Amino acid sequence: MLKTCTVIVVAVVMVGAVSTLTQEQGDPTLTEVWEPEPPIVIPNASGGPPSDAVILFDGSDLSAWQSRSGGAPPWEVSDGVLTVLPDTGDIITKQGFGNVQLHVEWRTPSVVTGGGQDRGNSGVYLMSRYEVQVLDSYENRTYSNGQAGSIYKQHIPLVNASRAPGAWQTYDIIFMAPRFHVDGTIAQPATITVLHNGVLVQNHVVLQGPSIFIGQPEYETHRPKEPLLLQEHDHPVSYRNIWIREL
Ligand code: MG
Repeated sequence: MLKTCTVIVVAVVMVGAVSTLTQEQGDPTLTEVWEPEPPIVIPNASGGPPSDAVILFDGSDLSAWQSRSGGAPPWEVSDGVLTVLPDTGDIITKQGFGNVQLHVEWRTPSVVTGGGQDRGNSGVYLMSRYEVQVLDSYENRTYSNGQAGSIYKQHIPLVNASRAPGAWQTYDIIFMAPRFHVDGTIAQPATITVLHNGVLVQNHVVLQGPSIFIGQPEYETHRPKEPLLLQEHDHPVSYRNIWIREL
């Protein structure tokens, strides 16, 4: 019995050795892929935009933006910071975007007023439709699918990575636009990944449709590129260092 076992073990070891030998004797270049070569992008050492980014706001002006109706964007720029002017409406980019990597820095007011949804509310709307909620969610409970880092009314953030009111916070967003059939029905829904202050809060989640306040979302066809929108929701939320990369 011992002898049989030994023979089997030796046989297994030998088969293993031959198999390893075969791999080592193959041509490794057969599995090398050289084309296309990824284009060179110069990263920014200090968290600023990489070399191929479209700058949407660098602190100087709002030339990349307009009001929803097409006029001058009504919000305030002061000391390199863009701040929502309550009761003036949302602002949208002049340029449309589809699949993107987006970086946004935002800050809710340091003087806290209100609670729940009525505290530091704004929003980053991909394609003017799909909202990553901006809210002061630091010790401020509201419905989970409406707090900071949520995809509004659709996806609860994995964690609450909020900083205190008055502190700058970041969103890094990977968004893949929905695709539609020619008859307008949805072919491939949008997906989104969000890091809030460097912490993953949305992991490639599938959007059910546009962000709406009441009822169940349903996709409606739109252009392959649509403006990015920042929401005016009565609160003086501030923004800075906004850049985007088309994917
Ligand atoms: Mg909002």
